[in-house]
Amino acid sequence: MMSESQPTPTQNVNFARLHKAVRQRLQSLKRAGLTHLNPPVDIDWNPSKLPNTLAQVEPPAAVTTPDPPPPDNIPADSTTHETPTLESLENTMPSKKQIQLDVVCQEVAQCTACDELAATRNKTVFGVGNPNAKLVFYGEAPGADEDRQGEPFVGRAGKKLNEIIEAMGIQRKDIYILNTIKCRPPGNRNPSPEEQANCSGFLQRQLEIIKPSYIVCLGAIAARSFLKVTTPIGELRGQFHIQDKIKVLCTYHPAYILRNPSKKRDVWEDIKFLMKDMGLKIPKKYL
Ligand code: URA
Repeated sequence: MMSESQPTPTQNVNFARLHKAVRQRLQSLKRAGLTHLNPPVDIDWNPSKLPNTLAQVEPPAAVTTPDPPPPDNIPADSTTHETPTLESLENTMPSKKQIQLDVVCQEVAQCTACDELAATRNKTVFGVGNPNAKLVFYGEAPGADEDRQGEPFVGRAGKKLNEIIEAMGIQRKDIYILNTIKCRPPGNRNPSPEEQANCSGFLQRQLEIIKPSYIVCLGAIAARSFLKVTTPIGELRGQFHIQDKIKVLCTYHPAYILRNPSKKRDVWEDIKFLMKDMGLKIPKKYL
C-alpha cells in the first residue's frame, strides 16, 4: 500500500521535462551509431491517442494474475516482436505540445471549481484535435453525448460540424475543437458567466500551447464569451475580429443551422471567407 506521503504515479511528474529527456537520450544514442533497441519495447503505447490522456488513468489492479506458462511445444521466448528503430520510437513519442496539453487535461479532469457541474458530469470534455492546428473551432458547452464520450461535438451538432469541416476539404484531425466550458451544464442550459470564467484559464493555456492563427466561434455564447462583447451574433459574423493576433470569425452554431436550415447559406459564406484568407481552395461546386 502506498503511504500518504508518497506521490501517486501521475503526481509530481514534469511530463514536459521527462519527454525532453527521453527525446534527447534517443537522439544521443542515434548520434552514437545505435539504430535499434534490444530487448524490443512495445511501440504501440501512445498516450496522445487516448481521449483525456493521463486524466483518466486506471489505477493498477490490486492483484495481478501471472501469465500462464506457454504450451510445451512453444518456447517461452518465441513471441515475435519487431525490434523498433530509434527513428520509429522517436516518431511515436507524443509531441511536446501534446504532453503540455495532457498536463492541462489532467488538471481539468480533477477540477471542482463549479460545484454543480463537477457533481453532475460523467466526463470532462477537454478538447480534441491537432496540437499544431492553425484553426480552432470554439463551441458552447458539452451536451449529453459529449459528456458520455468525453469528446466535443460528437452528437447531432457534431455531425453538422463534421459536414462543414469536410466541405472545407480538411479533416477533424487537422484542426482543434473545444468549448467555452469543459463540463456539461445539466439539462443543456447555457453555461453561466461564472462557469465560463472558472474555465477560462484552461482555455487560455490550451490556446497558448496550440497557438492557432484562426478561431471560429460557433454561436452567440461562444462568440460573446471569447470576444467579451454582448453584440448579437448576426452583427459579429462575416468579418475577422483580431484578438491576441488571432483572427477570430464568428458564425452560427451548427445546432442553430439544424433548427434553421436557411442559415446554412450564411455559415457557408463565413466559411468561404475564412478559407480564402487561409489560402484553402474552395471546391468549384461551392463557388
Ligand atoms: N457539443 C459541443 O461539444 N459543443 C457545443 O457547443 C454543442 C455540442
